[in-house]
Amino acid sequence: MTKDERKYYDKIARLGCSLCRHLEYGETPAEIHHLRRYGGKRSLAEVIPLCPEHHRGNTGLHGLGRKGFENKYGIDEDYLLKQTKGLIYSA
Ligand SMILES: [Zn+2]
Ligand SMILES: [Zn+2]
Repeated sequence: MTKDERKYYDKIARLGCSLCRHLEYGETPAEIHHLRRYGGKRSLAEVIPLCPEHHRGNTGLHGLGRKGFENKYGIDEDYLLKQTKGLIYSA
């Protein structure tokens, strides 16, 4: 990981969990989730902050899977990515 990547990820993580924000749970300490698209290639800008539960837990993106996550919360990764970018670029 480069220095710039580290800096960007830290900034994203400091926003707090994007799903908790959506659910109005407030700012929950978050870790980075990478969206995997375009043949699985990772892109620096395609990351969202998620708390450990909403990331890897049973009610989280990896626990539920993308379809399950969308069904449960009525939103998808792209929605959270838009929210995250809105916050980053308005700050
Ligand atoms: Zn959360
Ligand atoms: Zn993840």
